[in-house]
Amino acid sequence: MNAPIVGDCPLCLEHTLQVTYEVEKLMQCLHCGYASADKYSLDENGIESNEAYKQLTEEMKGWSKTAMNRIWIPSILTLPTAMIFPVNAQEEMKWSYAELVDVNEDEREDYRNPEGGYYTQRYDTDNAEMFDEFYLCLFMLTKGKDGKKKIQSRIKNSRNSTRQD
Ligand SMILES: [Zn+2]
Repeated sequence: MNAPIVGDCPLCLEHTLQVTYEVEKLMQCLHCGYASADKYSLDENGIESNEAYKQLTEEMKGWSKTAMNRIWIPSILTLPTAMIFPVNAQEEMKWSYAELVDVNEDEREDYRNPEGGYYTQRYDTDNAEMFDEFYLCLFMLTKGKDGKKKIQSRIKNSRNSTRQD
């Protein structure tokens, strides 16, 4: 695997766009959370004729954006410790952060593995935390529980328009 190239995100303008080339070109912004791939490239027929776009849910279509002749969609990341995904909160898109937790004995029937046995871990979406910004979810991912307090104080600081890093 090649190391990702970092570029400017055409949506949020931060220098946080990771570009990787594996099977196809993938672009993921670590700041705003939007992603694109070659299958989302636009041609002269426009967005409605894009096959990958057609397969998106209505919600994802509504959240998608276009820039650099591509369609960009909010990313869903399933990671070894947590999942980050967009949610609809009163008609507004927010970012949800759900930790990976163990499946306990009394709930394991709900987590039967179709290939046999049971799943031992699940993403705890019932207790997911919601954030306005994708990068705050990434912050949670790297800092865990401690991250939450830091995020809250950052949000407070930015509302007071003082910046502390
Ligand atoms: Zn961005």
